Amino acid sequence: MTEYLPQSPQDEDRMVDSAFREVLQAYLASNHRKKVEIIERAYRFAKEAHKGVRRRSGEPYILHPIAVAKIVISELGLGSTSICAALLHDVVEDTEYTREDIEAVFGAKIADIVEGLTKISGGILGAQSSVQAENFRKLLLSMSADIRVILIKMADRLHNMRTLWSMRPEKQYKIAGETLYVYAPLAHRLGLFKIKMELEDLAFKYEHPQKYAWIMERLKETSDKREKIVEEFVRPVREKLDAAGFKYEIKARVKSAYSIFNKMETKKVPFEEIYDLYAVRVIFENDDDAMEKIKCWQIYTFFTDGHVVHPDRLRDWTSIPKANGYRALHLTAMGPEGKWIEVQIRSRKMDDIAELGYAAHWKYKTGVHEEETELDSWMNTIKDILANPEPNAIDFLETIKLNLLSSEIYVFTPKGDLMTLPAGSTVLDLAFAIHSEVGLHCMAGKINHKLVPLAHVLESGDQAEIITSASQTPKQEWLQACHTARAQNKIRGALRKAMRQQQAEGQAENAAKAASPAAEPAPKRSLMQKLLRNPFSSKRRNEEPTREPVDRSKVFILHPDARHPNYRTDSCCSPIPGDDVLGFVDDDENVVLHKVHCDKAMMLKTTFGSRLVATAWGETPEKFLVSISIDGLDRQGILEEITNTISQKLGMNIRGLSIEAQDEVFHCDLTLQVDSAETVETVCDALKKIKDVKFAQRTS
Ligand code: MN
Repeated sequence: MTEYLPQSPQDEDRMVDSAFREVLQAYLASNHRKKVEIIERAYRFAKEAHKGVRRRSGEPYILHPIAVAKIVISELGLGSTSICAALLHDVVEDTEYTREDIEAVFGAKIADIVEGLTKISGGILGAQSSVQAENFRKLLLSMSADIRVILIKMADRLHNMRTLWSMRPEKQYKIAGETLYVYAPLAHRLGLFKIKMELEDLAFKYEHPQKYAWIMERLKETSDKREKIVEEFVRPVREKLDAAGFKYEIKARVKSAYSIFNKMETKKVPFEEIYDLYAVRVIFENDDDAMEKIKCWQIYTFFTDGHVVHPDRLRDWTSIPKANGYRALHLTAMGPEGKWIEVQIRSRKMDDIAELGYAAHWKYKTGVHEEETELDSWMNTIKDILANPEPNAIDFLETIKLNLLSSEIYVFTPKGDLMTLPAGSTVLDLAFAIHSEVGLHCMAGKINHKLVPLAHVLESGDQAEIITSASQTPKQEWLQACHTARAQNKIRGALRKAMRQQQAEGQAENAAKAASPAAEPAPKRSLMQKLLRNPFSSKRRNEEPTREPVDRSKVFILHPDARHPNYRTDSCCSPIPGDDVLGFVDDDENVVLHKVHCDKAMMLKTTFGSRLVATAWGETPEKFLVSISIDGLDRQGILEEITNTISQKLGMNIRGLSIEAQDEVFHCDLTLQVDSAETVETVCDALKKIKDVKFAQRTS
């Protein structure tokens, strides 16, 4: 993070030229054919086109396309066509030059790619839902025409994220949000794992600056110890590798800050348990494909000779690669201090494929037609969806987004039948996949003979059974408890139907009383659409007059006075002091708060980034209402134990309680008065200690 200091025009010119020289050097050092002339021509063309223009940081604009070209060659390993397109990628968008001008100088191929990049810049998620979906559709269309478009777009996004510090805070939120929402999943799907990791880490850094700093600090504190353990572990292996004449490198792998954060948040695991996982990667140079596999196993023996090896954790993907093309040999061996260390053995080529995924295919293109990869078949799915788009723009976007992430998992029914579901599917998704009626009456799941709630995420190999009840009906919250478009569509349909029925009953009642005319038609649109149409609706919107404009350049201090807070909350997530929150300024200059991870906040920040205001919690003198849901096995006296734990052991005030039991399962909703988010954690921890309570979590 360095400010750009103004320089003399001559110095600036020298700096720009030397940045471009680095691109050329990286290109010349690669295996590509040496088409230097056209790259130099693209550089001169772009430099002339962006002449006199500067980035927000103050540096000459041309440094951005040069940096993108550098990523394209150094990190993606693409060739001259892509390098030229990267250098020219903002020319049509930002200058008076047209596609025709580019085609006249560089030919149709490069012009096509630049045009593809032009169409999708300006943000995938525009100001309106229809524009978002349309932009996304264009992105996918240009991608299916030439995948280099999306690869260069990734490089562009990566450079923008690396230089995000120079943007205004609300822009940072918008760009970071879009990165997590669209680009990171896309990078994952394309197999660009390294880039995906960096995008996530950078987005995380801007979304949760304190948490990011905290994790980085912990990682720094513990790095010496980690290095020591790994070094001791690999020393004897190094000696054997050297003696056998291997050219290799050994890397100690550290989990990314974002993945640590995610694990801590979703699995509620303390930092100590996560950072304590060690992994080592051996990458060896190899010029004989026939020897690749044998060498992997030879290195394997170097580890097994001196170490205790975990028998269940040998993974051989050298002969049969994973669906995404990943090949490697994995083992887990005992290191110093009795710690298990995972070892990944890969040739350089295997490593390139693992880090670069689809982009590595260019590096190793042999001319032989390879069989259809998982990515190809996924691209065909996307083409199908594009050919038959759903009428609702946002549903379309969601469907595609789900498809981006999906790889398949397999679960077994009690009878041993195999069901295939997208990865990330929950009990509820499975229920709907079995049959709509099963889904609509689903109460809970029994996974590997253990009771789990509807939102439980399934894993490959699970044995899964669905518990239903005739009295069960779909709830609004179910939309958050499922992953597949199929389940969501069915739930939405059922909710609409229930609403119409209620309305009809209400109207009949009204008619009977000969009272007021028929009510407004109820919103039939999907939840997402409603949110977009009226993004700042809040509970008490009409009760207060328009306020003074909120100064968005300053941090807005939240005063959570229970009677007159200086902000509002929305029904979707009801944040309380201590939560990570985002503030949005509505039309009446009220600050509306959302939890950072609330779905609505995700949409708002990508779509209405300019309305964001940075917030911080002020003093918290009052108490707040929160809801906690508890799931477990039903038995006599359990309700009493729950209430005792809260009112007697913890001395807290229960404000609302409802319990519902079905067969062996119960579900309980509690409303409590608390002072902070930490207190809620304490309560949940205490509840989980009660026998037969399987889940206790905050729901609002
Ligand atoms: Mn750009």
